[in-house]
Amino acid sequence: MPGTDSSPRADSSPGTATRRTVLISGASIAGPALAHWLHRYGFAVTVVERAPALRTGGYKVDIRGAAIEVADRMGILEDIRRASTDMRGGAYVNDDGKRIASLPADIFGARTGRDDEIMRGDLARILYERTRAGVEYLFGDSIASLIPVAPTAAAEPGASTAPDGWRAGDDGAGVEVTFEHAAPRRFDLVVGADGLHSTVRRLAFGPEEQFLRHLGAYISAFSLPNDLGLDREELYHAQPGRLICAYRCAGDPAAKGWLSFRSPRLSYDHRDREPQLALLEAAFAGMGTDGARGWREVPRLLAAAREADDFYFDGMYLIEMDRWSRGRVVLLGDAAHCASPASGQGTGMALVGAYVLAGELAADGQGPGEALRRYEAEMRGYVAVNHALARKFARDMTADTRRQIRFRHLMMRMLPHMPWKNLVAKKIAEDVQRGANAITLKDYPVPATPLTSGATRATPMSPASPTPSASPTPSASPAPSGAAAGPVPSAAGPTYAA
Ligand SMILES: Cc1cc2nc3c(=O)[nH]c(=O)nc-3n(C[C@H](O)[C@H](O)[C@H](O)COP(=O)(O)OP(=O)(O)OC[C@H]3O[C@@H](n4cnc5c(N)ncnc54)[C@H](O)[C@@H]3O)c2cc1C
Repeated sequence: MPGTDSSPRADSSPGTATRRTVLISGASIAGPALAHWLHRYGFAVTVVERAPALRTGGYKVDIRGAAIEVADRMGILEDIRRASTDMRGGAYVNDDGKRIASLPADIFGARTGRDDEIMRGDLARILYERTRAGVEYLFGDSIASLIPVAPTAAAEPGASTAPDGWRAGDDGAGVEVTFEHAAPRRFDLVVGADGLHSTVRRLAFGPEEQFLRHLGAYISAFSLPNDLGLDREELYHAQPGRLICAYRCAGDPAAKGWLSFRSPRLSYDHRDREPQLALLEAAFAGMGTDGARGWREVPRLLAAAREADDFYFDGMYLIEMDRWSRGRVVLLGDAAHCASPASGQGTGMALVGAYVLAGELAADGQGPGEALRRYEAEMRGYVAVNHALARKFARDMTADTRRQIRFRHLMMRMLPHMPWKNLVAKKIAEDVQRGANAITLKDYPVPATPLTSGATRATPMSPASPTPSASPTPSASPAPSGAAAGPVPSAAGPTYAA
């Protein structure tokens, strides 16, 4: 059901008349994480999500390094621990499914210390549950247009300008937003946290084609029946230019599968499922069938992909942009700097980016322009390191030849018996850890508004669908542990300077 809120965005409730209003597009990881912080800093936050309810499906994602510290400061680390995939190990299998080389899960996932792994949908649910009481969620809707409000027009509430486009370097005075369903509203700031194919990016910066860098591979992910009887284990099978995986996490009756293949850029409609299934089936045609090479499970995986209601298919892309903000519109998470599944850092960067963006915005009462520049300056190096990792991992993910595959299997078989196996494992994790820790988190001021205060209107437009709960509903959010003393932004802070 699309949201039906037609009331103009006027924070007329007592004590909120001057609260800064922020519209976030996208309710996956980056969007709700930003909503969490902005609400705590006293902003009035609306999140619009195209899906009719919270998307709880997906695949497992790693949370490492700086992202773990951010999760701790958000007070959600325990929730993440409770919903952990709790994987025990991984193995490469031969055509008959026989395990030919096994390793512990943390070595497979390059995890060290406090790092953890969680299903994307579980993390989205944790973030949504944390924010839904204080943040307005509009499900089943999408931004249709963004019109920058010129400073002079800000004096006339509700007045719209007829701008001649975005002017670089001009913050403007807000953004008039029209939606596909809801009535138009004005916001002080609009954030695009709507993923790889971001609508906000397209509206504010132009067609996505100019920012997409294809990494030469495609990936499909989906749920499947656990016919293999997997228990917190992931099985991989390699063929030249192909990688196939099936796994099952703790607390999930279903298994998950993903298939990746090397390919130059393919042309298809990313919103149309049938051609994507056809491309996937063509890439793995015949594999694992009688007389042909490949894991005997492949035909069953392809059949499951066809049946799955959470089928995902996309290219492995980087999003590379010279700047992430234009006037009062800013991009966050995959929308700004997608690092592809190959990096294993997209979720972490979404969490860290939300922390940095909110902290910078809260520290600046004058206008968002300087805050947006600082957000970008803080994040650029971290993103660059992880983009470089993504390029490397996308290249290395699949082996080119059978000889390379045999060599990898041999290395994996030998590793558990090496006297320096812990050192070797650490070395394997080194690249990933460098990326995960490639930012020094600032200590932003302590947020003034506790999440559970109910100080704002809480009007989810459409309730979230019941989700397979892997962790209990979180309780009150504690103050961030690493926060330093500093100027505390008021919950009824100034609007951005016009
Ligand atoms: C198969 C796979 C495996 C992955 N593995 C890992 C991993 O191991 N580790 C890791 O860190 N990352 C991994 N990632 C990447 C990770 O999922 C993303 O980096 C992360 O989810 C980014 O979060 P986000 O909130 O920025 O964007 P997304 O998660 O893409 O969310 C965007 C949201 O915006 C919504 N939306 C889209 N268009 C609109 C619109 N017009 N209006 C409103 N809402 C809209 C979408 O419905 C979605 O809810 C993987 C990704 C894939 C596909």
